[in-house]
Amino acid sequence: MRSAFSTKEEKNMKSRLVDRLLLPVHVDTVEQLGPRLRRVILTGSALAGVTWHPGQHVRLQVAPAPPALDWIVGTLRTYSIWDFDDQAMELIVFDHGEGPGAGWARTARPGDELMLLKPQGNLAVQSEARYHLFAGDETAQVSYGPMLRALPDDAQVFARVEVDSPAERIDLTPKQRQAARPGWNVDWTYRQGRSAASSQSLVEAVRSLPLPDEPGIAYLAGEARTIQLIRRHLVEERNWPRRHVRTKPFWTPGRKGLD
Ligand SMILES: Cc1cc2nc3c(=O)[nH]c(=O)nc-3n(C[C@H](O)[C@H](O)[C@H](O)COP(=O)(O)OP(=O)(O)OC[C@H]3O[C@@H](n4cnc5c(N)ncnc54)[C@H](O)[C@@H]3O)c2cc1C
Repeated sequence: MRSAFSTKEEKNMKSRLVDRLLLPVHVDTVEQLGPRLRRVILTGSALAGVTWHPGQHVRLQVAPAPPALDWIVGTLRTYSIWDFDDQAMELIVFDHGEGPGAGWARTARPGDELMLLKPQGNLAVQSEARYHLFAGDETAQVSYGPMLRALPDDAQVFARVEVDSPAERIDLTPKQRQAARPGWNVDWTYRQGRSAASSQSLVEAVRSLPLPDEPGIAYLAGEARTIQLIRRHLVEERNWPRRHVRTKPFWTPGRKGLD
């Protein structure tokens, strides 16, 4: 019996589809930022002219997949764009220990080649907001950094990010800019070994924020059940309209490659 995708015609078709969908890049730099955080910089001429906005993500081909599973694109995993200057795309990958995405980031070396889908996603700062509320975990802080950097100095900002330990914080607002933004209330909480899933301590951190009476816009990313709990708090306890709460689940226990 011949294999499912073995003819020359099928290979050509696959190659044409891949060319349209995926951009070839290579790993330029891998840097350990904290015990479980790695910065990976991707470069390649295919990135020239590619546009993005802060809050968007890319999907990377982190491993091949058996043809019957995903013939065209292989195993994709999703990562927020920390920074992108047209030639270099910076990602920050959290090593949770399992899964092809975490494994890829652990073993990535300069020169490695891979493919990615163009930036996508509608998580974005809403300039009309009275104020901005950010809450999430290690993975969410990667999307919040560029969103915070995109806000004007006079924006009012509340942010609570929960990570396991101080070593897993990312510098979300460079210090010189933070000094120029006294109205920003940005802080971290630490789980110290507890799970990031259904994190009551992050809900508590948001509950204790001195938010104005009027709703702002909330951006909630990271673990899906924690996001639901925070949204419930805002809608049911603070009476925020649902449309003022933007959510983007990044992962949840037992699910793979959530997007
Ligand atoms: C829009 C979007 C943006 C994202 N941005 C980032 C980012 O910038 N940086 C980043 O590191 N991740 C980010 N993620 C999350 C990342 O895509 C997932 O964590 C992904 O599941 C990792 O793939 P994997 O192959 O390592 O694990 P998978 O094979 O997908 O998952 C295997 C198991 O690992 C566990 N798991 C997965 N992720 C985590 C986690 N973070 N913590 C603890 N346990 C986990 C779950 O139990 C899961 O069932 C983003 C996700 C989305 C949807």
